[in-house]
Amino acid sequence: MIAQHPATIFVDRDGVINQDSDAFIKSLREWHPIPGSIEALAALSQHFNVIVITNQSGIARGLLTTTDLNAMHTELKKQVCAKGGTITDILYCPHGPDDLCNCRKPKPGLLLQAQKKHMLKLKNSWCIGDSYRDLEAGLAVGTQVALVRTGKGLRTLTQHPDLEKTYPIFDDLNTFSTWILKKDISC
Ligand SMILES: [Mg+2]
Ligand SMILES: [Zn+2]
Repeated sequence: MIAQHPATIFVDRDGVINQDSDAFIKSLREWHPIPGSIEALAALSQHFNVIVITNQSGIARGLLTTTDLNAMHTELKKQVCAKGGTITDILYCPHGPDDLCNCRKPKPGLLLQAQKKHMLKLKNSWCIGDSYRDLEAGLAVGTQVALVRTGKGLRTLTQHPDLEKTYPIFDDLNTFSTWILKKDISC
């Protein structure tokens, strides 16, 4: 499948699109979009492929099933569609930290899978997340990276204070979307 746009925005899910919880997001009932994130995804999808890349170790931990996860992802796609946008794909890692898979971020396995599946060019693409490992995955395959302050973002900045000097930081996905669309259209 050849991607529609020349560049891709890889978006982390928990803490970027929806509110995060240290107790995991285990069902559709617990899945609550961060205000403005659905609109941001819809706007981004007019100019970029939008692909969600998410670690879902709750599956390996037995906290949720793929059916629960699919219900959340169907709802996410439906809400973005209702705002006139499209999510190109959602790729998740179901493994736990001890499984030594190659798809759990900070490993870039899911990004590479998406690249292959949709024949993407990673060079002008972006990886956006609220954890350092989201950025590490992107950097490993040469995307540009940005951090949001929602979800674990503020915690990430406390743990890695140098990030602020090195990479663009945004209050939320909506702020990133406004910034990148302005930049993309003006050049
Ligand atoms: Mg996250
Ligand atoms: Zn994995």
